Amino acid sequence: MTNLSITNDLVANFALLTAFLFAYNLLFGQKVAGLRPSLRTKTIAGAVHGVFAILLMYFGVSIGPTTILDFRQLMIISSAAYGGLYSALLTGLIAASARILLFGLNHSSIVASISALTLSLASGLIYRAVRGHPARMWGYSLLLSLACLTGTLVYLLGKDSADILLRMAPLIAVGGVFVAGLTAYFASANRLTQELKASEERYRKLHSMQEGILQSASGVAIVAVGLDGRITLFNKGAELMFGYRAKEMLGRAVKGFGVLSAKARHGLPDEREWTCFRKDHSRLRILLSVTPVRDEAEVTFGYMGVATDITERQRAVEALRKANDMLRQLSLLDGLTGIPNRRHFDQSLEREWTAVASGDSTLALLLLDIDDFKAYNDTYGHQAGDEALIRVADAARSVLQREEDLAARYGGEEFAVILPGASLADAVRVAERIRAAVEALRLPHAGGPAGYVSVSVGAASARGGALSDAQALVADADRALYAAKQSGRNRVAQAEERQGAIR
Ligand code: GH3
Ligand code: MG
Ligand code: MG
Repeated sequence: MTNLSITNDLVANFALLTAFLFAYNLLFGQKVAGLRPSLRTKTIAGAVHGVFAILLMYFGVSIGPTTILDFRQLMIISSAAYGGLYSALLTGLIAASARILLFGLNHSSIVASISALTLSLASGLIYRAVRGHPARMWGYSLLLSLACLTGTLVYLLGKDSADILLRMAPLIAVGGVFVAGLTAYFASANRLTQELKASEERYRKLHSMQEGILQSASGVAIVAVGLDGRITLFNKGAELMFGYRAKEMLGRAVKGFGVLSAKARHGLPDEREWTCFRKDHSRLRILLSVTPVRDEAEVTFGYMGVATDITERQRAVEALRKANDMLRQLSLLDGLTGIPNRRHFDQSLEREWTAVASGDSTLALLLLDIDDFKAYNDTYGHQAGDEALIRVADAARSVLQREEDLAARYGGEEFAVILPGASLADAVRVAERIRAAVEALRLPHAGGPAGYVSVSVGAASARGGALSDAQALVADADRALYAAKQSGRNRVAQAEERQGAIR
């Protein structure tokens, strides 16, 4: 056998080794990718590597009657790399027994078997010592394997071993590095695949959980749309709320999508009330919040709308507002006469005064008091007194024609009239009309100055800035009323003219 053919045969043996390793990874690689291989996995690793070692031996290179060269050492180290001491020992044991069984019990077989067992024990221990550092494990194991080989060959061939060693050692070294690289590559590829599977699994679980939550939420409508405005999710709540089935809505474009997603498109939170229609065309008021849905790279790939039905709430709010309005109205009206009460009068007067105080216009005020009303009550009874109050209030109100004029019940049997923009002369004219209207009611009042129910009226008016406050105007009107009473009742008296800024 020539030296060249030995090298060629060794290369062929090495090719076989790589082919085995590929096959092994294809068949079992996924199993050992986990950090802690099970005993079963370790046994498979040891056994399969052992079988491969036998095949390598079988196709090994004979360099003497009983001496064969092959790469079974690399098989043992690879076995250790996959399954640790246990696998390595198993492989070593299989290789050693096969060596003796296949090639007979002779000196070479025994030495080779001891060498194989030594290497498997050593590389298994090295695996333990440098756990987690495959490069180191391979490095130390390869050095050891070279030592074993050298020992074996020197022992078996004496000085003839030098030539074979020179050929074999580089092949073992280069081949070992290659196999180590290959194993590392497989390991990381397998690990990545497993991680990917695990993460896919996690993602799928999470996804179906989210789907479950979204779908089962029946109290709120959840609708997801893609960037094109087409519906990608329409949950149970949405079906209940809008009356559509999910399968008829999926893929359909959402009406008003542009408006609804406008804020969310700019990353702003959006919550709004929105009116929409159910399948049966009934109207529905919803509170809708829209948020962008982003992927891991923060790129928006759709929008999620969550809606709650606030139709009932809206209705309740409306009813409450109406009730409140009514209450407010009521709280500003006098219970007996139905005209504005004192509170309303005070508010109106303040408002009108503020408007006048800064400008050049005038504000007039009338104060009315029924004449000898105490006597009326005494004569006709309190009930009749109340009715008289109602009639007087109506009479005063009917005289007023302008929207802005206001007649109010000022106190017991006293009334006040606000006349924005009226001069003193205007106010006296209106006062006179009211007085006449009350007299024209012809409500008999034996104790009254005219024989009928009558009123005395004090009229006052001021131009903006002429008085310090609204109460000064009331005081003016009150003085005028007093004057009217003093001068005989059933008449109008006017306060002094307030034109300039008299304070
Ligand atoms: P004068 O001409 O000076 O005004 O004489 P008068 O008797 O009207 O005196 P005054 O204005 O002080 O009278 C108040 C009376 O008005 C007392 C009360 O009996 C009567 N009065 C006040 N509020 C009511 C009311 O709500 N119903 C009835 N029936 N009478 C009222
Ligand atoms: Mg009075
Ligand atoms: Mg009176």
